[in-house]
Order: sequence, then structure tokens, then C-alpha cells
Amino acid sequence: MKYEKPCTACNGSGAVISTAWTVFFERVDKIKKKYIAEGLSSLKADEKAWEEIRPSEPNEPMEHDCDECEGRGMVPTEEGRQILEFVEKYLADNAT
Ligand SMILES: [Zn+2]
Repeated sequence: MKYEKPCTACNGSGAVISTAWTVFFERVDKIKKKYIAEGLSSLKADEKAWEEIRPSEPNEPMEHDCDECEGRGMVPTEEGRQILEFVEKYLADNAT
């Protein structure tokens, strides 16, 4: 029996890149592609894209704990969830 499985929201890493940063990286990529289309080398395009976009860098941590697994990287399977409920039931009984 398996009681937990890797979280699909963060691929088991426990952390996710914030939306603001995802959007930011997409913008960097777009600007870079524009420069490459204009004939710059990939390296130069990368440099220029970053120069252009750096002032609008998101003012927040790039990664935060995954909401799905609370940073564990693993989530309970159906079996695991049932065990948790089972344990919680008895723990709750003892607490009263
Ligand atoms: Zn997760």
C-alpha cells in the first residue's frame, strides 16, 4: 500500500514559482525572441532582454511553499487520506 505520492502541483519539489515570476520569465523570453529575430545572438539577446526588464522584476520571493502539499512535496493517496482520518478520529476522542 502506498500512503503518499509526489504532489503534482509542484512535481514533488514542495515549492512553486510565484505567478508574478512566471509571467516575468515569459516576458523575458518574449523580449529575447524579439531581439533574436532582429539578428542578435542568443547570448546578446538574453543580456539585452534582462537589461530592459530588470527594473520591473517582481518584488516578491521567486518560490513559495506549494499550497497543495504545504511544502512537503508529497500528498496523501486515497489510502493515506483514510488513515489520516482514522488517526484523527481517535486522536480527537482522546483529546476530549
Ligand atoms: Zn506540492
